[in-house]
Amino acid sequence: MSNSPLTKLSDGNAIPQVGLGVWQTPNDVAVEAVRTALEAGYRHVDTAAIYGNEEGVGQGLRAADVPRGEIFVTTKVWNEEQGYDEALRAAKASLKRLGLEQVDLLLIHWPSPWRGKYLETWKALVQAQKDGLTRSIGVSNFEPEHLERIVGETGVAPVLNQIELHPRFQQKATRAANAAQGVKTESWSPLGQGRLLNDPVIANIARKHGKTPAQVIICWHVDNDLIVIPKSVTPSRIRENFEVFDFQLDADDLSTVAALDDPEGRIGSHPLHAKF
Ligand code: NAD
Repeated sequence: MSNSPLTKLSDGNAIPQVGLGVWQTPNDVAVEAVRTALEAGYRHVDTAAIYGNEEGVGQGLRAADVPRGEIFVTTKVWNEEQGYDEALRAAKASLKRLGLEQVDLLLIHWPSPWRGKYLETWKALVQAQKDGLTRSIGVSNFEPEHLERIVGETGVAPVLNQIELHPRFQQKATRAANAAQGVKTESWSPLGQGRLLNDPVIANIARKHGKTPAQVIICWHVDNDLIVIPKSVTPSRIRENFEVFDFQLDADDLSTVAALDDPEGRIGSHPLHAKF
């Protein structure tokens, strides 16, 4: 069984670099996906209150024969729960649904700037960490200006920023802004929601290494010092997506994938304009 490398976070904690994403996974399916992943060697699961599957994720964590202390669990405060009191309440409700006393990482899901509440929400996360509800705190979908504001106002930097990132949307500017604040970058929709798996450039690299396109893309994230949370509910794919630590992309591969970057490559919403 291969183990994921760990990425050291600025607060001294460490996160397994490859985890399982469970967006769009109903509770009953999440139980099995999480259990399968843990049995395959994963030690990191990424959920969120809005995914509606924290109960299933919690059940999956308990179903596998892996000590809780070895597993890194992330959840997120949904936009409608932004605000100081609301976010603390939301964090406690997530813990209850997960059946956990503490998560490893709590994120603000989106800055949702039109609500004007992400700074208060960040202060709540700082308090949640002090209260022991979570070991680490971070953000998701934060643009450099949002990051600068919360760090400037509170002096506390998130350990990571989880953003849309895949070979067709490589986010170089946001990655640089994160790094400048000591904030790690985590890639969501790392496979482009599956759309990148038929790309001929990726397929060529996969053939060369005797790997699958999904494995090549996940390896690309790992080789770029990104934390990555591919989603699958299919047991063989869950296992496949974790068999990525026995090869590396060479300089040619990396420059070929670098050329796939496209400023128009975003699949999800733009954090500045999203009205949710
Ligand atoms: P993804 O890029 O991980 O792609 C998942 C899809 O790719 C699967 O549904 C499946 O169709 C396909 N796939 C996966 N492995 C495969 C394999 N080995 N072979 C063939 N096909 C395969 O998409 P995602 O689910 O959008 O993103 C991953 C995770 O990121 C989510 O589950 C969630 O945890 C997180 N996420 C976070 C945010 C956020 O706003 N913070 C937004 C979207 C996703």
